[in-house]
Amino acid sequence: MLMNRRRFVKNSLAAAIAASLPVNDGLAALLGPSAKVTADIDAVTGDGAEVTLGRAAIQELADSLRGDLLLPGHAAYEDARHVINASINKYPALIVQPRGVADIRSAVNFARESRLLTAVKCGGHSHSGKSTCNGGLMIDLSKHHRNVLVDPQRKIAQVSGGSLLGDMDHETMSFGLVTTAGTVSHTGVGGLTLGGGFGRLARRFGLSMDNVLGYEIVTPDGEFRRASADEDPDLYWGLRGGGGNFGVVTNFEFRLHEMNREVIGGTIGFPLQEARQVLNFYADYALEAPDELGLELVMFGSSPENSLIMLPLCYCGPHKQVEPILKKVRSAGTVIMDNVGPMDYVALQRSGDLSDPRAIGSYTKSGFLSKLSPSFIDAAVTSFEAREGRNTVFAIQHAGGAISRVAPNETAFPHRGINFIPLLIIDWPIDSNAREHVAWLKETWNRFEPELEGFYTNDLIDETQEQVDRNYLGNYGRLVALKNKYDPTNLFRLNANVRPTA
Ligand code: FAD
Repeated sequence: MLMNRRRFVKNSLAAAIAASLPVNDGLAALLGPSAKVTADIDAVTGDGAEVTLGRAAIQELADSLRGDLLLPGHAAYEDARHVINASINKYPALIVQPRGVADIRSAVNFARESRLLTAVKCGGHSHSGKSTCNGGLMIDLSKHHRNVLVDPQRKIAQVSGGSLLGDMDHETMSFGLVTTAGTVSHTGVGGLTLGGGFGRLARRFGLSMDNVLGYEIVTPDGEFRRASADEDPDLYWGLRGGGGNFGVVTNFEFRLHEMNREVIGGTIGFPLQEARQVLNFYADYALEAPDELGLELVMFGSSPENSLIMLPLCYCGPHKQVEPILKKVRSAGTVIMDNVGPMDYVALQRSGDLSDPRAIGSYTKSGFLSKLSPSFIDAAVTSFEAREGRNTVFAIQHAGGAISRVAPNETAFPHRGINFIPLLIIDWPIDSNAREHVAWLKETWNRFEPELEGFYTNDLIDETQEQVDRNYLGNYGRLVALKNKYDPTNLFRLNANVRPTA
């Protein structure tokens, strides 16, 4: 970062504190805490150059919004600038919290005209903090742009671009309808769906993005567009796996499926000493399991005595067919925990939520595999044992099924042959030294790397641009052509970036 961050924060704070009285107290109470701006603000462009934003231009932006413009010094700014990973601590020059499409267009136009570094935040779950930035503009959809409207007759849901997965599950399930969502309910629909969207139902209904029938998007030129199979099919193709590269998605139209609200869910646990046996079982059974079964694997523990290997599951098929499946899963080892039974799907979707995500820093790596080889299993077990369970989770998410029944070039997401998504996650109390943890995880992940067939762009952390390019496989060229068409100046670069060549 070219600009001295301390100077930037000092200047912006001075500007904001001098000016943070609302334009009009009564109006501000109705419209939110947008500031009366009394000073210029230092910021950075997408290329990292310093730029000064004129007071009048910022005021014009603030006045054009139905939502809020937040500057350093506002209490709301402090809350909005954070993302889930507490080790990310960045200070945007300004934050727009839009109320509707018009505000999003104003923010995008302002960003483009000032060539600002631009971040888009939905659920804020990007581990690497791609949804915030130092010195740029953050468009924070999570505050006012959250809404889900279900049409039960047509079995579709209109989901605003800042909605969380829990919003969507809650609304759709009240009509006995559902679509694939990830496993933590406070994850954003925006980021998760644009990059893929794995979850408990993905083997039956496909990735979240496979269920998107249409997108509404504000592209970098400030235009509002619709992309579907019939309208701009090329952009529709790119939005299914191309991440936030093409603009701000204001609305997702999801196809919904009928499903019993009561599923069979829970976890079967085994002693960690049996980790190899359980992993070997999982390597085979995950490949032959019915699509209605999402079977994860988790090695977890706070110490060697308190560690175990678990198979969390969700079965969404007919209950009368589940017993032989459970019998098979229990045969993986010596069962020491078993809480599997009928449960509410929405409650299951919330069961992994974090009570205080901001208390911890974390670092994670993930990858894609079509099979679990003996050498991969060995690396997983020995790495986890060496760490003695301290703040470490080794997990595998289950892919295959409907995910694999889409051709690699049918959407921009090319990794259709995968059955396993291994993840290594480490976290630490936020006030402790992160360096040791991150170094351990990176070194350990090097052991897995040679076997991986790609990685999940949604879990991007510090991959090089070359790795990102390669990861789009045969779809990369078509994505570059789309980027050249819609975002030739790379306004939206804080993502698994497709660099324009135009
Ligand atoms: P944000 O950080 O808000 O956004 C990430 C990026 O998405 C932004 O930088 C931007 O480029 C883009 N973006 C977001 N919204 C929009 C929009 N409306 N328009 C344009 N661009 C947008 N993934 C799975 O597939 N399945 C899981 O079960 C799963 N579980 C997870 C659990 C946790 C606790 C965490 C931290 C992550 C998990 N992930 C999972 C990974 C997840 O898919 C990514 O972190 C994803 O980016 C989260 O989306 P978000 O909107 O919350 O993130």
